[in-house]
Amino acid sequence: MIVVMRSGFAQAELDHVTATVAQAGLRSQITLGENQAIVGVIGVPITDQLQETLGVLPGVEQVLRVSKRYKLASRDFHPEDTRFPVGPIIIGGDAVVVIAGPCSVESEEGFLHAAEAARAAGATMLRGGAYKPRTSPYEFRGLGERGLEIMARVRERTGLPIITEVMAPADVALVASYADVLQIGARNAQNYLLLEAAGAAGKPVMLKRGMSVTAEEWLLAAEYIMASGQPHVLLCERGIRTFETATRNTLDLSMVPLIKKLSHLPIAIDPSHGTGRSDLVPAMALAAVAAGADALMIEIHPNPDKALSDGAQSLNPAQFADLMPRLGTVASAIGRRLATIAEPVAAD
Ligand code: PEP
Ligand code: MN
Repeated sequence: MIVVMRSGFAQAELDHVTATVAQAGLRSQITLGENQAIVGVIGVPITDQLQETLGVLPGVEQVLRVSKRYKLASRDFHPEDTRFPVGPIIIGGDAVVVIAGPCSVESEEGFLHAAEAARAAGATMLRGGAYKPRTSPYEFRGLGERGLEIMARVRERTGLPIITEVMAPADVALVASYADVLQIGARNAQNYLLLEAAGAAGKPVMLKRGMSVTAEEWLLAAEYIMASGQPHVLLCERGIRTFETATRNTLDLSMVPLIKKLSHLPIAIDPSHGTGRSDLVPAMALAAVAAGADALMIEIHPNPDKALSDGAQSLNPAQFADLMPRLGTVASAIGRRLATIAEPVAAD
């Protein structure tokens, strides 16, 4: 249920609403706009009687039942687009944020090389996996905390914030102590204990879509993160499993306009996992910007043939540098631009 306050409401009226909600054993989540406030009522049970009680309080314009199962993530509750800062950049604003880096952090030298190539080409955030969900237990599963340390040092050198995956609730505090954004991977997209732990960690979260997760399930997964205290969630479409085998996954770009209708949360596209093929990545990245994506996550590697994970879908530095200005052209064609960092820190 959401309580819409009249424009020009008094603070005491808002306090009265939240006190009434608390008396009913429920929680309030307040979204403030200019002269406007919406109070989300969270918890159970939400009764007709409470709806009536709140509806006649001074300063209340109307009380609406949100029919969707997700509330905090829904556009009804929060009509404006959500935008939030990550280090020096804003996610969800006019500027499209390009996140680039290798699938896995393999070595300090290699990660620094990839990061410098990413920054030189204009990327504004670095990705890299220290804890890797691998289909086979015999494949490279990441450097763990050593990988996080490498990422933190490279952040210092490049000035670019870092995003990295967390796979287990027990690792959340450690990963959150290094990362600027926590990534929840496709395989964990409905691991509700992990979603809650990540939501309580105090860092923005990028939530990938699971391979067989519907839009509603995806937004309900985001709701777990938000209901645990973290309002800054970036959704990331990375392809779903279909009958098609020519591509690794089927990249569902229709999620960009659909999610924007259903939710206020920003959405990223990952054309690397979405196709599994570096030759298809540029076209799908351009299409993602054209569709209105707020961010792109692109895997790059100094030498993709030698990558310990996902080399086939990784761009080399030259291919990435070739793509970036083309992304900028598409962004400007739809009235946007690529994010930039005002004063990047010198590499050394
Ligand atoms: C990744 O980003 O490297 C990754 C493992 O992604 P996904 O969870 O989408 O497979
Ligand atoms: Mn990968």
